[in-house]
Amino acid sequence: SINGQAMQRGLPEDFDSWSAMGNDEWSYDKVLPFFRKSEHDLDIRDDFHGTDGPIPVRRRQTGPWPDIQKAFHAACLDAGYGAVEDTNGPNPAGVGVWPSNNLNGWRMSAAITHLNPMRHCLNLTVRGEVFVRKVLIKDLKAVGVEVESGGEVFNVEADRVVLSAGALKSPHLLMLSGIGPKDQLQKFGIPLVHELSGVGQNLMNHLSAQITFKVKDGLSLHGDVDAVHFGLHYTSNGSSEVNDMLLRTTPMVSQRPERVPGLRTKYLNNEVPPDRVARLSVTLGLPDGS
Ligand SMILES: Cc1cc2nc3c(=O)[nH]c(=O)nc-3n(C[C@H](O)[C@H](O)[C@H](O)COP(=O)(O)OP(=O)(O)OC[C@H]3O[C@@H](n4cnc5c(N)ncnc54)[C@H](O)[C@@H]3O)c2cc1C
Repeated sequence: SINGQAMQRGLPEDFDSWSAMGNDEWSYDKVLPFFRKSEHDLDIRDDFHGTDGPIPVRRRQTGPWPDIQKAFHAACLDAGYGAVEDTNGPNPAGVGVWPSNNLNGWRMSAAITHLNPMRHCLNLTVRGEVFVRKVLIKDLKAVGVEVESGGEVFNVEADRVVLSAGALKSPHLLMLSGIGPKDQLQKFGIPLVHELSGVGQNLMNHLSAQITFKVKDGLSLHGDVDAVHFGLHYTSNGSSEVNDMLLRTTPMVSQRPERVPGLRTKYLNNEVPPDRVARLSVTLGLPDGS
């Protein structure tokens, strides 16, 4: 896995805005049962949280609050924001602890939480080194995939095909399979199976702006690896989108082997060692690009 182990759900307003645009299968009340099914929350027991799903969720709070987190939390309250216990609840606004899928220092990945418990099943086969070339479609129904493996190209048939090749490759595979904007498919000589103009369009960056700064002398950036880490969900001035911003602060990483020298460790200038540098980052939380 490559991720920050943030088990932060999308915000209810985001799902409801997709629903308002016409995708009513993705309203928050329709996705909530699946969030619940996916997790067992170790801190919070209520209608918004699951208790018997495969992914453990907890809010790290080992040891004292690191200085930088203490300062960030106080600054948020001073600025008039509230504190929130549950950033995965109905109203995540305010400063609260990040939920995480890390347990005792272990990343609870899809392999550990989903695959390992099922490996013994006789009806499960996982095949690596198999490259999907396209989805096979008959009468507008996916009936399998065309794949390449070990220099051979062959078909794998299935009653049910789940396309989960990621944000870039899922739409690409749909287009290679003849599902997408007509003009674009024609240009590449791909026979049209189903015209769907939105496929492969509107890719957006998840914008994040960061400021690095030197911490005051005498303050320590070190804390327990499992120490608390706060985030602030807030609504930017003049925005019609609730909780469109996420603010966090982190210490910069200490010096460690890096593939591109200077990339991770030279954050301010050569006079400030990396272990005296922290970062404030604000991330745009809007999925719809508005
Ligand atoms: C640096 C980073 C940090 C992140 N941190 C977090 C976080 O803290 N919390 C969080 O919730 N999310 C996080 N995310 C987002 C999260 O990782 C993605 O949303 C998630 O991985 C998407 O899962 P997926 O299964 O849809 O696709 P992916 O994880 O992208 O998996 C798609 C798979 O399909 C395979 N594939 C593609 N094309 C083919 C083909 N033709 N044939 C065969 N296989 C193919 C790919 O090799 C890949 O293994 C982070 C992402 C990044 C990059």
